[in-house]
Amino acid sequence: MKEVKPTPKPPKKPLIFYYIVAMIVVMLLNALLFPSMLERQVTEVSYSEFLDMVDQGEVDQVALDESDGMLVFISGEGRDARYYKTGIWPDDGQRLLNQLRSDPDIEFSSEIPTQANPLLSAIITWVLPILFFIVIGEVLSRWMVKKMGGKMPTMGNAMSFGKADAKIYVEAQTGKTFDDVAGQDEAKESLMEVVDFLHEPDKYAAIGARCPKGVLLVGPPGTGKTLLAKAVAGEAKVPFFSISGSEFVEMFVGMGAAKVRDLFKQAGEKAPCIVFIDEIDTIGKKRDGGGIGGNDEREQTLNQLLAEMDGFDSSRGVVLLAATNRPESLDPALTRPGRFDRRVPVELPDLKGREAILRVHAKDVKMDESADFAAIARATSGASGAELANIINEAALRAVRLGRRLVTQADLEESVETVIAGAQRKNAVLSPQEKKIVAYHEIGHALVAAKQTDSAPVTKITIVPRTSGALGYTMQVDQDQRNLMSRAEIQSKIATFTGGRAAEELIFGPDHITSGASNDIEQATKLARAMITRFGMTQEFDMVALETVQNQYLGGDTSLTCSAETAARVDEQVVAVVKEAHQKALKLLRENQGKLRELAEYLLEKETITGEEFMAILNREA
Ligand code: ADP
Ligand code: MG
Ligand code: ZN
Repeated sequence: MKEVKPTPKPPKKPLIFYYIVAMIVVMLLNALLFPSMLERQVTEVSYSEFLDMVDQGEVDQVALDESDGMLVFISGEGRDARYYKTGIWPDDGQRLLNQLRSDPDIEFSSEIPTQANPLLSAIITWVLPILFFIVIGEVLSRWMVKKMGGKMPTMGNAMSFGKADAKIYVEAQTGKTFDDVAGQDEAKESLMEVVDFLHEPDKYAAIGARCPKGVLLVGPPGTGKTLLAKAVAGEAKVPFFSISGSEFVEMFVGMGAAKVRDLFKQAGEKAPCIVFIDEIDTIGKKRDGGGIGGNDEREQTLNQLLAEMDGFDSSRGVVLLAATNRPESLDPALTRPGRFDRRVPVELPDLKGREAILRVHAKDVKMDESADFAAIARATSGASGAELANIINEAALRAVRLGRRLVTQADLEESVETVIAGAQRKNAVLSPQEKKIVAYHEIGHALVAAKQTDSAPVTKITIVPRTSGALGYTMQVDQDQRNLMSRAEIQSKIATFTGGRAAEELIFGPDHITSGASNDIEQATKLARAMITRFGMTQEFDMVALETVQNQYLGGDTSLTCSAETAARVDEQVVAVVKEAHQKALKLLRENQGKLRELAEYLLEKETITGEEFMAILNREA
């Protein structure tokens, strides 16, 4: 990968940072180290000791310290001079003065400086350390520049705030191509067009088609947005500027805007080219009216970006790419036609997409014949490209750990679980009673799922504790891609969530239910609430949206859009839905109590059982 930088980089941190550090160090030195060196050692003695010393002729020079009314005196001369100070006996002043005056050996001076030469001390405490730092800084920076094999930065660019340090890739040098991106066919197609435009602008010009000015990649984290942009850089044989939104966020107001200006200036010189701004939401957030002082800096940066986007002529072949997982937070001005006018969704991969991604990442990994990517893809519904890549890598690591040369299906399965539920906790100690509860709990889930027609089949049940804190879990895998969920399916899902607790109640009694169901409870509630507030699946509220999803791609937090009274009624409904599901689960388990016990005992013995074993026991005639 060859990367061409326009100029040697100035130091990453602004210079002011180093000056502040230097100042602090100097102050510390001054406070701790230098006083003993610079200030005279002044011994405080009692008044009577002072008088004794006067009598014995040891005092050579006396002065009154105006600041604290004490007497300062010197004994000895030259280098042997010792400094003392003492308080004056209040009533004794005049008599003492007379006595001191009459003593020919004592010199009466107006002031005895307890500080060494003030100019010298200033030099030692301030100028020297700063000089020292400057020298060190200079030496270090020379050394670093030498190490990087670059030229000495001139003063001009060490001070060049506001330079956009975008990486510029000239020609296919990111090492990524569209082949490295799997399962995002629509996104690829859309971007391919952009690449094509940059290759053959005439073809488009002949018809009068304009290239989109900006393409915005939106989607959840880890779905390959950054990867796609890199692939574009690899495919397009034009310069590719890549910069992250956060790099525009600067310490000084106006610097972000200056960087934007610089970026577009560079791009204009290199046209045709592509400019990629990753995580654009950092600078592209909605400008909100008012606010005290507000986000002047960010707003300026955004305004500059908007102005630059209007300013450049797309027929010259500068295409802007940007990626974000928070499209809803972007300023509308940024997404209007003429700016980022093409929005390319990069969604979580579907079943086929997941399989394709697994294959792409397995290319460089030695796989056993047993590896069944389709099965892994089925088991990882909802996983992002990044998670799938991680699964392959974890599997490879496991194979190495176990001293094998090939990655097997078992490695893949185990790593799916590791990625979903955390690694196995080998040394977790569960008491036999706890283990029994967990076994019944998990079989409760599985049995409720199996006894309902709308549930996905159970593929695995385990009571091996995981580092994520789960003490066991039941894995259900849909056989094919699911895009819609029916009301019946949601209800059975909620019932399945309540199945674990229901089994505990049934077997151990209501007083012995455990905290192990907390995650189930959370999920069941979430689903029940969504059913009412977002899916319009209740009679009472019909098709009224009571909640809106805030950020679609990041966890999907919701906010209420209804009055407090309605919210209270929603809560009642949520409780009713969950209660109903819970009762259904209890009923199912009660009807199949024999199987519940049989299966739980079997699981207790085996610790992990497959879906087939489970079904075999379930369907066996007693
Ligand atoms: P995003 O920018 O959308 O958050 P990235 O592009 O950084 O995600 O993806 C992270 C990693 O996940 C990539 O480097 C790649 O290894 C893997 N990955 C994600 N999506 C895909 C995909 N569609 N095909 C192949 N690999 C993918
Ligand atoms: Mg990214
Ligand atoms: Zn559970």
